[in-house]
Amino acid sequence: MSTQAQDQKRFEVIIVGGGLVGATAACALAQGGVQVALLDMSAPPRQWPVDSVDLRVSALTKASENILQTLGVWPGMLERGISPYKDMRVWDAKADGELHFDCADTIFNELGHIVENRVTVAALWDKLETLPTVTCVTDAKVSHLSLLPNGRRLLLADGRQLDADLVIAADGRDSSLRAMAGIEVTGWPYKQDGLVATISTENSHQMTAWQRFLDEGPLAFLPLRNGQCSIVWTLSPETAQSYLQLSDQDFLQKLEQASAGILGGMLATSARAAFPLRFQYANQYTESQFALIGDAAHAMHPLAGQGANAGLLDAAALAELVIKTKRAGRPLASKKYLRQYERWRKGDNLLMMTSMDAINKTFATHALPWVSLRSTGMNLINRTSPIKALFNNHAMGLRDDLPKLAKKQVCW
Ligand SMILES: Cc1cc2nc3c(=O)[nH]c(=O)nc-3n(C[C@H](O)[C@H](O)[C@H](O)COP(=O)(O)OP(=O)(O)OC[C@H]3O[C@@H](n4cnc5c(N)ncnc54)[C@H](O)[C@@H]3O)c2cc1C
Repeated sequence: MSTQAQDQKRFEVIIVGGGLVGATAACALAQGGVQVALLDMSAPPRQWPVDSVDLRVSALTKASENILQTLGVWPGMLERGISPYKDMRVWDAKADGELHFDCADTIFNELGHIVENRVTVAALWDKLETLPTVTCVTDAKVSHLSLLPNGRRLLLADGRQLDADLVIAADGRDSSLRAMAGIEVTGWPYKQDGLVATISTENSHQMTAWQRFLDEGPLAFLPLRNGQCSIVWTLSPETAQSYLQLSDQDFLQKLEQASAGILGGMLATSARAAFPLRFQYANQYTESQFALIGDAAHAMHPLAGQGANAGLLDAAALAELVIKTKRAGRPLASKKYLRQYERWRKGDNLLMMTSMDAINKTFATHALPWVSLRSTGMNLINRTSPIKALFNNHAMGLRDDLPKLAKKQVCW
């Protein structure tokens, strides 16, 4: 990896955004022999105090694990620490509806892993350092994007100019590159915040992901390897803001009530943060010599923990098509493979987003006949093995039509 953008001003691909998704795309493309530049405003942390936990964690599916394994990133994540979960329990606070997924019903030793986002990003950047065809630029603020006859030009705030056959925007939900490319979004705020914290509980989490649907939204306890839990608590923005202001003691009391004592007493909390939630998708995933991946293309409700997983599938799918196009000797500035990428990923992501949206709405309804209907539905799914297996496979990311990397196959 080179860190000097001045060395080379023309690349085959420039990726803007070195988070989970952009760094995965860079890793895949570089291993496929593509000359790639990865731009971010700053370098991610690679080390931190041993006893600290990142507030941002993701439940990574088997498909995501396959991608990161095949790219050779997983060992770096294992070294830093990841937390397998073997069970998932979902229940309705309003009635007796319950869903239980157990890895014993699958061919795997776990359903997935809870991983701090900084762990995945640091392991990806470690891997990038070993790849000669990647240039990382960690002080890049893009101020302008323009179209060239055979590619795109990026102007950085400090005056540097970088050209590429293809620019990929992985710069998150509020993507400025997406706006510069003139791509509009459809979406709305959920009027819910995701409050996150790391919690010590009296009872063991039993390597189980717990999720209780409450009046304002779901409360999830995600098991961490140090015995603590990372929580994602969906609340109205007003409640979330007021809970951020509470003393630790008062917050833990609210949490204990909301969890119905499933993990016993709530003993300690880290600092807390809240993220406003949105349903949002880009009306197009691609433009001439330009593509969106990850949250820049879609932002979804975190209730089933699928945002990062969907983004990793985007990265794997686009990298596969870019590498295939290059191998076939076709120009990377061509539109054909970009259209293919959009067809491949947009429908899948929209289905996931609308399913999350529907689940969120289903549990936001408190009318009695509806509550009893959803409870009956949950219990029916729980007892019907083939439907449950279908849900399980979907939650683990094991669907048809996956990119090669997600099936543990190389795409180069
Ligand atoms: C509360 C909560 C819980 C969640 N839990 C889960 C979960 O369990 N499982 C799951 O799969 N997903 C989960 N998600 C979603 C997941 O966090 C996101 O989908 C994922 O982080 C998106 O990754 P990304 O790389 O696309 O974007 P980001 O992580 O936002 O990264 C964007 C990168 O672009 C850089 N950048 C931004 N602007 C510029 C610019 N102008 N120039 C250069 N660089 C730029 C940023 O510095 C950053 O590094 C959760 C989300 C929330 C809010």
